[in-house]
Amino acid sequence: MLDKDIFGGLVRLHVLYHASHEEIFGLGMIEELEHHGYKVSPGTLYPVLHGLEKNGLLASRVEQVGKRNRRVYAITASGRKALRVAKSRVWELFREFFEEELEFGGGGAARKRPSVAGARSAKAPAK
Ligand SMILES: [Zn+2]
Repeated sequence: MLDKDIFGGLVRLHVLYHASHEEIFGLGMIEELEHHGYKVSPGTLYPVLHGLEKNGLLASRVEQVGKRNRRVYAITASGRKALRVAKSRVWELFREFFEEELEFGGGGAARKRPSVAGARSAKAPAK
């Protein structure tokens, strides 16, 4: 990865997002991230999964696949909450990044703000 501080955050958001739709597992997630242009090794991704679980955003269970065991992860209630907040922050960031494109592209719908309380407050982001 280019910069772990920056891209690690984006990778975590992808992981949370996918875990909110279905159970995920390490290798599947690595392939998914590859589609998005992230080259993430197991040595990078597994600590990310463990960290998210340790923080209560994901919960895991062991599933048997043929003769092998595989650990699968699902999002928790706090994970969903964190994802909701992150989504509003990403939206805010996206708007700022692409302000000009949105202005001149006439994307009326794209300019509408989601009603998210505190998205503009100066408070530190919720952890
Ligand atoms: Zn994805």
